[in-house]
Amino acid sequence: MSATFDTVVMVDWSGAGDRGATPKADAIWAGVARDGQADAPVYLRSRAAAEAWLAEVVPAERAAGRRVLLGFDFPFAYPAGTARRITGHEDPRLLWDWFAAAFDALADGEGRFDIAARLNGLFTGDEGPFWFNGLKRDLPGLGKGKPPPQADWPPERRRVETRAPGSFACWQMGGAGAVGSQAMTGMATLSRLRHLWPEAAIWPFDPVGDSPLVIAEVWPSLLSDAVTRRMAEDASLPGAGREGRPIKDAAQVAVLSEALSALCVDGRIDAAFAAAEGPDLAEEGWILGVGGEPELRAAAQPRLRNDCFALPSGVSWTPVDEALTLLRDRLTCVVGTETVPVGAAAGRILAQPHVAARSNPPAANAAVDGYGFAHAALGDAPHRLPLTRGRAAAGGPLEHALPRGEAVRILTGALLPEGVDTVVLEEDTRLEDGAVVFDGAVKPGANTRRAGEDVSVGEVALEGGHALRPPDLALLSALGLAEARVRRRLRVGVLSTGDELAAPGATQDPARTYDANRPMLLALAERWGHAAIDLGHVPDDRAALAHRLDTAGADVILTSGGASAGDEDHVSALLRETGSLTAWRIALKPGRPLALGMWRGMPVFGLPGNPVAAFVCALVFGRPALSVLAGGPWPETRGFVVPAAFEKRKKPGRREYLRARLAPDGRVEVFRSEGSGRISGLSWAEGLVELGDGAAEIRPGDPVTFLPYGLFGL
Ligand code: AMP
Ligand code: MG
Repeated sequence: MSATFDTVVMVDWSGAGDRGATPKADAIWAGVARDGQADAPVYLRSRAAAEAWLAEVVPAERAAGRRVLLGFDFPFAYPAGTARRITGHEDPRLLWDWFAAAFDALADGEGRFDIAARLNGLFTGDEGPFWFNGLKRDLPGLGKGKPPPQADWPPERRRVETRAPGSFACWQMGGAGAVGSQAMTGMATLSRLRHLWPEAAIWPFDPVGDSPLVIAEVWPSLLSDAVTRRMAEDASLPGAGREGRPIKDAAQVAVLSEALSALCVDGRIDAAFAAAEGPDLAEEGWILGVGGEPELRAAAQPRLRNDCFALPSGVSWTPVDEALTLLRDRLTCVVGTETVPVGAAAGRILAQPHVAARSNPPAANAAVDGYGFAHAALGDAPHRLPLTRGRAAAGGPLEHALPRGEAVRILTGALLPEGVDTVVLEEDTRLEDGAVVFDGAVKPGANTRRAGEDVSVGEVALEGGHALRPPDLALLSALGLAEARVRRRLRVGVLSTGDELAAPGATQDPARTYDANRPMLLALAERWGHAAIDLGHVPDDRAALAHRLDTAGADVILTSGGASAGDEDHVSALLRETGSLTAWRIALKPGRPLALGMWRGMPVFGLPGNPVAAFVCALVFGRPALSVLAGGPWPETRGFVVPAAFEKRKKPGRREYLRARLAPDGRVEVFRSEGSGRISGLSWAEGLVELGDGAAEIRPGDPVTFLPYGLFGL
């Protein structure tokens, strides 16, 4: 099976009646997502309104050639044995038809509770598996409470529900969180939709195949954490702002539709379908995503908005700092989490705070080699304390308590034996006739380490978002953490464009340019701790470029070349087609426009083709942007002020970066040419001199800001 969907429609159903014209909680809400991005959730006041909306939206998507996944959050079936008891057949779809007919046949004033009461009559006992009469009037066979089950009643839960902690059984017809009414009304709706759209595959009863429309059961609680986050963070959700509390159902359909759509974009939706299992699938159905929760949760990470690179209108040249602030405000982490051994975690970004599993040190111990004793037992100097038998060493504690007034030989790192609170340094003592003798004053507790004096158990040792460096591995290990919860590595695809490019050495044609940017950008991405993906070179061909982006398997793309507005600039042209391109004309030298855009939910950074400009833009813009996308901090790059060894006049209006290095006399010198074609200057340099946006007249000895390559993580 290979499933993917262009459009994901998720419906949060409700068994209640018409909820009125104003959007409310506990009504029917629908979310539509394409390319991992959800539209604003749609409020549907009644079941009739929902059916009418679906009957419009789904065919419209289909007509646009888009394959649709349609999900509903109510059980598509009852536990095994139920359908046969009611209809004589196992197939739940016949039960849907039965419900549709049953609703149609109701008398005035009757509803789903009457159907439940009637169905209970099919089972032994005064009542039946359905329970909770939500009406004011009594109904024979349907009580208020849950009756004790009889031997011939179907199981309480479907197999899939036992795998979905906190889900409600479909027998309960009312009460907070109950799904019984939703299931009944929902199944009747499904019956009508199924006959309306005979081409639909109802999963898992029909194989997904290449059906243009797949209808599946979903359960938003699988993503409750992401829903909570969304409600806290998304100010555009209905209900947010006004009453202050965003409507949960709206958040649910947005999050679920986006997550499933994101799985499609990433080519991983198959896994969600493949997780369904068990002998009763055809009878009980399955909840899409159960069995594939980690994948689904990873896909529910916050995504970037399609308009995240929009610039305020009317802007001509954007100052560097303004551009950086925009990136910083709009970018968020786009990767999920995984657990790795601490030993393999260098360079990874912590996904959550890491808390000490044990104190460091775990118990009081000696900080030096010497002799330990109880300070309170000391008399006047000089001190003479008989040595007890044995010694205390790291990993070899003294086996008995130290008698008061005696001393014990103790080595660095040894646990303080009972009766020892102070250690005198070996060099300050002498041994005489089995006693240790020393003169100087020793403070109580001298030369010892308290338990937990470094970090105590339960304390946060490292915060989420921290990028692990070698000493951090020592810290986590010392605190008893063998594993770290880290961000999945950001997959950075690197692509070069331009017909003029050739592989280095592949041709002697002087009209061809060797592809210099790709190895540089790939190495930068690796250095910054990301997973670099070489996407090769694409000629100036829009379809080829689109295909390469579609199949990139990356979280973010760095392209170089073709980023300006020239005729051959296909990166710009292509991203402009998706409606999400912004050409950032940044007041920066070297550097021409950056083309920033979203391709099917994936950010694309179009860097200049010129290698010097590509390098500078990658350092200045690419590095912080990638860090945030990867779940890390926004790195501030503060340079050192050093005297210039050069002279330079600069006009106001744009920031300049000069290839530079420190001379032996401590002054900073710049490369002999500012020509942006001089790639050798990048290798000659050991960093960049940054000249501010204003005018400048620099003379030798004047202070300038030097940014060593190391500050950029190189
Ligand atoms: P563009 O941004 O496409 O207008 O390219 C500007 C200049 O950079 C042109 O001279 C290109 O040939 C050159 N260029 C583009 N991509 C690369 C690359 N990957 N390696 C080296 N030079 C490049
Ligand atoms: Mg080009």
